[in-house]
Amino acid sequence: MGAEMKTEDKNIAELFGRIQNAKHLVALTGAGVSTLSGIRDFRGKNGLYNDMDAEKIFDIEYFMQDPSFYYGQAGSFIYNIDEKEASVVHLVLGELERRGFLKALITQNIDLLHQKGGSKNVIEIHGSPKTHYCLRCAGVRMDFDEAAALVRAGELPKCPKCGRALKPAITFFGESLPADALREAVSESQDADLMLVLGTSLTVYPAASMPDYTLRSGGEVVIVNNMPTPLDHRAVQRFDDLGEVFEGLKACLTG
Ligand SMILES: [Zn+2]
Repeated sequence: MGAEMKTEDKNIAELFGRIQNAKHLVALTGAGVSTLSGIRDFRGKNGLYNDMDAEKIFDIEYFMQDPSFYYGQAGSFIYNIDEKEASVVHLVLGELERRGFLKALITQNIDLLHQKGGSKNVIEIHGSPKTHYCLRCAGVRMDFDEAAALVRAGELPKCPKCGRALKPAITFFGESLPADALREAVSESQDADLMLVLGTSLTVYPAASMPDYTLRSGGEVVIVNNMPTPLDHRAVQRFDDLGEVFEGLKACLTG
């Protein structure tokens, strides 16, 4: 072992030490985690907003008028899960949970990639396409795989009772966030003695308030994001490059 450890490697080793010593580790993830899997950030440099009308795709009023618009657009970035790879971030977070380090994962993402990466306790505060339901008929449910097969075949997932298009349980503009998931997210954030804030600029509420709950309960926050966040000055460690940090953590886990 000739060469001296690079500063970044030292910092990642220090982060791994924190992860191992944490009693209640929680992660909060945003769009930056998905962009590593080729999913575009809604608001970032190569964001969906540049060439796709995300406001319209996820607008509840518009969906009720014309659900085929959502299904037509979302086919290529939500229902094509088989074509997407979990990134090193998803995989390492899944492994950290499997080894008992990570207690909960709060995400703003709706792409199911954390589940693909092996995470089980995923709290999806912006909802999830894992379930589709009828806006009219109580109790009608269709799971992701069944809905995705229909969407990929160019069909709409429809309610067997009333024939209307089913809606994914993603929170659309004009809808309330899922109350149970939010309560759970707040509770986990308060219990966390260490929160990893990953790929989010902490500008969208209520996700942005989660690390505040951790800090107010006496916990520590580590931030990994390629843009500044309002909480950078309160983080015990701050990194820019998610890929580099998680390749480093992967090496710590396997080495
Ligand atoms: Zn129905």
